[in-house]
Amino acid sequence: MAKAKTENKTEKKTEKKTKTKAAPKTKKPKEPKEVIEAKVTEAETAAVTEEHAVPETVAPQPRRSIAFIGSECYPFVKTGGLGDVMYALPKALAELNCDVKVILPRYHCIPAQYQEKMVYRGSFDMDLCEDGKSFYVGIMEYVWDGVVYDFIDNDEFFTGGNPYTNLVDDIPKYCYFCKAALAALNYMDWIPDVIHCHDWQASLVPVFLRTQFADTAIKDSKTVLTIHNLRFQGVYNIPTIRYWTNLPDYVFNKDVFKTGYEDANMLKAGLTYTDIITTVSNTYADEIETPDYGENLDAHLRYHGGKLRGIVNGIDVVQWDPKADTRLAAPYDITDVLDRKKENKKALQEELGLEVDEGKFVIGLISRLTDQKGLDLVNEILPSLVDGNTQIVVLGTGDIRYEESFRGFESGFKGSVCSCIMYDEGRAHRIYAGADALLVPSLFEPCGLTQLIAMRYGTVPVVRETGGLKDTVEPYNQFTHEGNGFTFDRYEAGLLYDAVNRAKTLYFTDRWHWDEMVQRDMAKDVSWKTSAEQYRALYLELKP
Ligand code: ADP
Repeated sequence: MAKAKTENKTEKKTEKKTKTKAAPKTKKPKEPKEVIEAKVTEAETAAVTEEHAVPETVAPQPRRSIAFIGSECYPFVKTGGLGDVMYALPKALAELNCDVKVILPRYHCIPAQYQEKMVYRGSFDMDLCEDGKSFYVGIMEYVWDGVVYDFIDNDEFFTGGNPYTNLVDDIPKYCYFCKAALAALNYMDWIPDVIHCHDWQASLVPVFLRTQFADTAIKDSKTVLTIHNLRFQGVYNIPTIRYWTNLPDYVFNKDVFKTGYEDANMLKAGLTYTDIITTVSNTYADEIETPDYGENLDAHLRYHGGKLRGIVNGIDVVQWDPKADTRLAAPYDITDVLDRKKENKKALQEELGLEVDEGKFVIGLISRLTDQKGLDLVNEILPSLVDGNTQIVVLGTGDIRYEESFRGFESGFKGSVCSCIMYDEGRAHRIYAGADALLVPSLFEPCGLTQLIAMRYGTVPVVRETGGLKDTVEPYNQFTHEGNGFTFDRYEAGLLYDAVNRAKTLYFTDRWHWDEMVQRDMAKDVSWKTSAEQYRALYLELKP
């Protein structure tokens, strides 16, 4: 971990050194200064690298095979950031000479357009339970963009309209899924160098691998377990998990499964058995070792701290590309963002029934509506934000109390506030493009993708300095005019209010520097490239 942190600091320093000021606003900027300078820097770096090329960089990178195992993946099924990562990271790794197979449940809710293209790859029966009960495992395959997707098919477990229902159903579902994924790899005789598991739903993979699969073909594969959100751990009583896994007694002790007096924690067990633990930002990697953010696993994580790393997420810059985004009224890039954003803003205001006025400061919020996302702070300050010059657009679903409070604000501030209580991918794209700022005031945020997408769309993030938000948004400096957004530290409504007001002040009184920040945000590299390389280096470290 120490090593990972040091590397990151060096990276940050380098990033600072090469950072250049964004181009000042011109009527028709040909190519912003930052882009040109970035190109020059790239060219220089390439020249230097070539000059000092050592044999390893010339030789082709060794190929590695990776099996991704997780519970959701865009565009088949997505409820949050995990779905984005399961789609974008395998794609980025495939471009780095990796063979990637993604193993997912074949939920009934996967749209027909994908179900129809899946090809039957085989099936078998698998023992699962303590009483010897066995279950059907079907494998349906779909190949797309250099990545192979294998869906585990079983009608008893994956029937719901939603991937997650309640723990009573979800615990057996993911016990089955973890074992079936390993059994499917053996069945297909596809033995990966590394098995990369994601969140508690896939966390039993390392446990099964080192116990029931210890004498099978797959036994030499290494494992990585990534924590996308430590809050969700898959905790249930020991007898139930023992029944659904038939794992040996010795793993139900306090170092592996046991938590409290009688519960078993699936994530905890996976963290014990995996070779490497990663989480999705450096700051979150530090935070989760503390009682405040550790969700009762901080001591366990400190104990396993030697194998914990932070690698920040990126976004898929093809999926999120304002220039090629067919969902937008006026697609744009860094050269015409300043004009086109106004058109997108007006189109958004029309679509949502807000007062159509390009002069208004539009604040977006795209989020699961849960406590994690800092919505109690937003509720506290929202009435004070609506001042005749400001509009607020909320897109999200989740806890009833937030859904109701935002609906209430919409009817209380007609024309200035719009609350879209729904999940709508297209509308999310239009808000990213049409809003001036995006709020992400999270209580905790392992990485956060919305601030990255916002920057890619030239929308200035206003974030709390926690987890990945802290690692990806550099606060605006009013003296040097550097930075990517507005930030606040302590979890207090007053500080959020202050951060939004600082953003509004810059927008209304110093548009020149605001526009520079918009362009600087669009020029920032939020792609997967650097992070995918870090994952690849990690796989090579595990399997030299
Ligand atoms: P989390 O995974 O905690 O929900 P992230 O910021 O990592 O949060 O990822 C959220 C992802 O889900 C982003 O791609 C965001 O655009 C998307 N998203 C969240 N809520 C909605 C919604 N209601 N409609 C469409 N997309 C949404």
